[in-house]
Amino acid sequence: MSISDYESVIGLEVHIELKTAHKLFCECATAFDAPPNTQVCPVCLAMPGSLPALNQEVVEFAIRAGIATHCSIEGWSRFDRKNYFYPDLPKAYQVTQNDFPLCTEGYLDIVSGSGIKRIRIARIHVEEDAGKLIHLPDDGSLVDCNRCGVPLIEVVSEPDLRNGGEAVAYLRKLRAMARYTGISDGKMNEGSLRCDVNLSVREKGSEILGTRVELKNLNSFNFVARAIESEFERQVAVIEEGGTVVQETRRFDEKTGQTCSMRKKEEAADYRYFPDPDLVPVEVGAAEIERIRASIPRLADERKAQYIEDYALTDYEAERLTDDKELSDFFEKAVVATSNPKTLVNLILADVAPLYTEDTNEDLLDPESLGKLSDLLAAGEINSNTGRKVLKALMEENFDPVAYIARHNLAQINDREKLQEAVARSVAVNQRAVNDFLNGKESAMRSLIGGVMKETGGRANPILAEEMIREAVGSS
Ligand code: ADP
Ligand code: MG
Ligand code: ZN
Repeated sequence: MSISDYESVIGLEVHIELKTAHKLFCECATAFDAPPNTQVCPVCLAMPGSLPALNQEVVEFAIRAGIATHCSIEGWSRFDRKNYFYPDLPKAYQVTQNDFPLCTEGYLDIVSGSGIKRIRIARIHVEEDAGKLIHLPDDGSLVDCNRCGVPLIEVVSEPDLRNGGEAVAYLRKLRAMARYTGISDGKMNEGSLRCDVNLSVREKGSEILGTRVELKNLNSFNFVARAIESEFERQVAVIEEGGTVVQETRRFDEKTGQTCSMRKKEEAADYRYFPDPDLVPVEVGAAEIERIRASIPRLADERKAQYIEDYALTDYEAERLTDDKELSDFFEKAVVATSNPKTLVNLILADVAPLYTEDTNEDLLDPESLGKLSDLLAAGEINSNTGRKVLKALMEENFDPVAYIARHNLAQINDREKLQEAVARSVAVNQRAVNDFLNGKESAMRSLIGGVMKETGGRANPILAEEMIREAVGSS
C-alpha cells in the first residue's frame, strides 16, 4: 500500500493558563515575567502544615470555557492528587481533576477542507501548573516556583482530527475561545497555551483505532503541523516495513523536523491518583451557571454568523475575521466607517490580517481610515496599487485618506483623453511586447499596462488602460 491509503487519527490535549488574579489554591499573583521566586508562599511552595483554599474565580473561568465549548457543566466535581517527583513540583504531586472533571462532552466547529467539521471535546478539567527549571549552560539547573499553582484548564478532544490543518484550525478556535471569553491570552510563545498531540494511523475507511503516540509540548502552530506531518510519515513507514507502532511519548526536534522517542509505555509513571483529602468537592448550582452564562460576551461563532448575514461574507471570510478577537474588533470598528464592506474585507484579509500575531493587542492602523480607503477603492477613485500604498502609509501614521489622495495627486485616471498619450507611448516603446501580444501571448499585455502605469505614476485605471491598448494595437 502507499501512504495515501492511510490517514492520521489525532486527539489533542491542550493546557490553557488562566489569567486569574491569584493562583489556584493561594493568594499569590500570576504575572508571567516576574523575577524568579517572587510570587510564592507557603501553600504553593508546599511547606508542611500549609493548606490549600480553592480560588472561586478559577472555577468561574473554567465554566466560561465549558459554556463556550458547549460542554455540560457538572454540578459536582472533585480534585485528585497525581503523584510524581520532579524538581519543579515541590509538593511531589499535582492537583488535578482526574475522575470527576468540571466540564464534559462539548464540541467546537472548525472550517476544514471539506466544510464545517465538528470536533468533540471529551472533557475540560481544572489543574495546577508546575514551576519552571532553568538549565544553566555549564552544569546544574535552577528552580523558579512562580508558576507553581498557577491555574490551568486542560481541554481533551476526542480523536476526531485527521491532519495537521485540522489540528491547527481547532487550536486557533480554542485560542479564540480563550481570548473572547477573557480567561487567557492564549499565547503559545509564552506557554499560556500548550499542546500535546496524540496520533495514530490506520487504513482509510477503517473504524479501528491504531496504537497512539503522544507528542509533547509543541509550542507553535507551525510545529504542531510539522510534527503531525512527520509523525504520520514515520508511523506509516513502520507499518509498511512490517513493524508495529509502539505506544510511547515522543518529542519533535525543530531542527531535524523529525520526532524522537522520549519514553516508552513501560517507563510511564504510575501516578497513584487519589482524591485530595485537603480539598472539598466543588458544587455548582444551576443559578450560578446561568449567571456565568449571561456574563459571557459575544463569541466568535455568534459574530461569524452575524457577519455572514449582515455583509454577505463567505464562511471562509467570516471565519478568518473572527479567528482572532483583536482582528474581529478591528473589523467591527472599520465596517461602520464604510459603505463597501466587501472591499473592506478584501483589504483586511489580504493586507492586515497576515500582520496580526499572538502579541498584537492594539489596532495596527486606524479602523475608520481603512473604512474610508475602502470607499475610495470601491468608487474607483484610486486603483488597487495606490490603495495598497496608502494602506502601508496608514500603518506608519494616521491621516484622512481623502485629503491624502488629493494632496499627493494619487487619484485614479479614469478619463480616456487623459490616458491617450500614455497608451500611445507605452505601445511605441514596447514594440516587442506588442508583437508578442499580437502573436497570441496574452501575458505580454501586462508589460504594456505596466508601461502605462509608468507613464502615469501608477494612477491609470488598469481596466481602461487594457481596453485602450487593445484598441491601439488593433485587437479589440
Ligand atoms: P489518557 O487518559 O491515557 O491520557 P485519553 O483517553 O484521555 O488517554 O486520551 C488522551 C488523548 O488521546 C485524547 O485527546 C484522545 O482523543 C486521544 N486518543 C486516544 N486514543 C487515540 C488513538 N488511538 N489515536 C489517536 N488519538 C487518541
Ligand atoms: Mg492524558
Ligand atoms: Zn502561593
